Amino acid sequence: MFRAILVEKTDAGQQSRMVDLEESRLPEGDVLLHVERSTLNYKDALAITGRSPVVRRFPMVPGIDGAGAVAESSHPAFRKGDRVLVNGFGVGEAHWGCLAEVARLKGDWLLPVPPAFSSIQAMAIGTAGYTAMLCVLALERHGVSPKQGEVLVTGAAGGVGSVAVAVLSRLGYRVVASTGRAAEADYLRGLGAVEVIDRALLSTPGKPLQKERWAGVVDCVGGATLANACASTRYRGTVAACGLASGMDFPATVAPFILRGITLVGIDSVMAPMEERREAWQRLASDLDPSKLGAMTREIGLRDAIGAADEILAGKVRGRLVVDPSR
Ligand code: NDP
Repeated sequence: MFRAILVEKTDAGQQSRMVDLEESRLPEGDVLLHVERSTLNYKDALAITGRSPVVRRFPMVPGIDGAGAVAESSHPAFRKGDRVLVNGFGVGEAHWGCLAEVARLKGDWLLPVPPAFSSIQAMAIGTAGYTAMLCVLALERHGVSPKQGEVLVTGAAGGVGSVAVAVLSRLGYRVVASTGRAAEADYLRGLGAVEVIDRALLSTPGKPLQKERWAGVVDCVGGATLANACASTRYRGTVAACGLASGMDFPATVAPFILRGITLVGIDSVMAPMEERREAWQRLASDLDPSKLGAMTREIGLRDAIGAADEILAGKVRGRLVVDPSR
């Protein structure tokens, strides 16, 4: 038997609870993972609460991220005892995930935990941090560098935002952090932001072209914020769009694209190819100061995960939540 969060759908609607399950109920896969730590991402919160239809099969064990030790493997790349992690690939959406003591997964989805990180640190980073690094890599691929000027991070006090601020500042960028939580200004400065701005400055519809300010942007918010970020990006600058914390819409014009040659890059972490994942995790190991992870992480037990999902969706969680499935 193992403990897990289970999301079920009945005539009364969707419900999540902590249950004990028989291992024989685990889905197919060639690696059995002893989950040492999981996390609670924005998407996990959507799955647990049913706020958006991210769960594609019921019943579902949510948890898009996991790290731990291989307990059994018939995959050629992994042996019992190997330390591995998983991010996405439909885990926790279409395939039972890692908000559980064990998970049976496809070995093709797994990466070794970088030696620089413990399971706790790997999950303090999790999909949010790996997505932040995919955004940084996208900015670099499009030629953004610290000497070109300031970079903006929106939704900065959240998980993706916190890691993006920490990594970009370590790389030498002047990072401007946009947040709705003025009380987190010192936290964001501690991660390396040189300036903290009120997200209200970006959240109402603005002009199609605004004063050129950003060499690059990591946007976790979408909506008018993303449109305004594009409108104030400098000539040939780049915006990496990864999130929708304020909504799915994108009320923008083509002006910044055709008059300033800016680039808008879409970031998807779920099905990103293995090569990019490997690069992102290697860069996290070299470019994220692990001492910053403590300030951005709170650890909770599996029993707390359901309540914490509401906190995430209410935008009340600072940084990252790491889940210990054994308690
Ligand atoms: P968090 O919940 O940790 O952070 C989101 C942050 O967005 C909040 O902390 C808040 O930051 C800000 N925010 C919340 N509501 C609003 C609002 N109504 N208007 C403006 N800002 C708001 O989530 P994550 O950091 O884990 O994820 C951020 C986004 O990225 C989510 O939309 C998530 O779904 C998406 N995502 C996408 C991935 C991909 O593959 N493309 C992978 C991972 C995440 P503050 O308090 O600082 O204002």
